[in-house]
Amino acid sequence: MEDVEKKFWQLPKGDVHNHLHLSAGILRLKEQYPGTRFETPESFDGFDGMMRFIEEYVNTLLRSSEDVVSLMDMAIRSAIDDHVIRLEASVDIHLVKYFDGSLENFMSAVGTLKQKYAHQIDFRPEIGLKKDISLDEVYQNGMACIRSDVFSGIDIYGKETNQDLSGFKKIFEEARALAKKTKVHIGEFSDHNSVERAIETLGPDEIQHGIRAVDSENTMEMIKNRGIRLNICPHSNIALGAAGNYLEHPLRRLYDAGVNLTINTDDLLLFNATISDQFAQLIQQGLFTFEEIDAIRRNALNED
Ligand SMILES: [Zn+2]
Repeated sequence: MEDVEKKFWQLPKGDVHNHLHLSAGILRLKEQYPGTRFETPESFDGFDGMMRFIEEYVNTLLRSSEDVVSLMDMAIRSAIDDHVIRLEASVDIHLVKYFDGSLENFMSAVGTLKQKYAHQIDFRPEIGLKKDISLDEVYQNGMACIRSDVFSGIDIYGKETNQDLSGFKKIFEEARALAKKTKVHIGEFSDHNSVERAIETLGPDEIQHGIRAVDSENTMEMIKNRGIRLNICPHSNIALGAAGNYLEHPLRRLYDAGVNLTINTDDLLLFNATISDQFAQLIQQGLFTFEEIDAIRRNALNED
């Protein structure tokens, strides 16, 4: 491990853009499933390529609720391995199906993990909803999750382009009323207008990715004026082709424009880059100073 990476590895960090069942470290996965042929590619063929990879390799590991719990458990331990002390991670509501459709068992499994690691990490699960989910599911299971003590927030994700998000309005209002954190994935592959529309429609606390805001002064102003934080995952963006490489990534321009941001893993299992890895890359490639990255590190731990 290079010096700068080691320094950051030792420091406490927050990971606030993480999809729990896709966030096990590869070494932990291989320990748990010896003989698995799981290899992460350098890059995926875009978002659809990633979805095919998940279908082909990750979903074959998932046969039972024990497998789901095991993947989530490994993800929490992998975060602890990188000295992440606050983990805000989405737990996809479709995982309920592995619990024989029992929402109660699903929530209880997540709650048990929270307790199990309570002395090591501030794990704040968020209920994760794909944008193409049926609204019946949103307002039955989704609503029950947001009203339970297990979940600290809500995150919606999936295909970004041409999605009407108005169906999620009421559950976002409910989350806000319960003082839970609201997040939406937008502006990774979709343009800055879609970022503005998502803000107008849902009024999220934070945006997952949001990097295309860089293309519009107006969008960046809107993000700043409303106190919205962008939780960015540079390595994931590069692996999926949303940015060519670290040098071309919009991160620096967003930072210079004064946008509030953090750096996160997204899916450690797919992208294989910890927060410390990415901090080191950004410094080694001359994009940020140690002090700047350190301020970004603290930013993920600052607010409640
Ligand atoms: Zn994400």
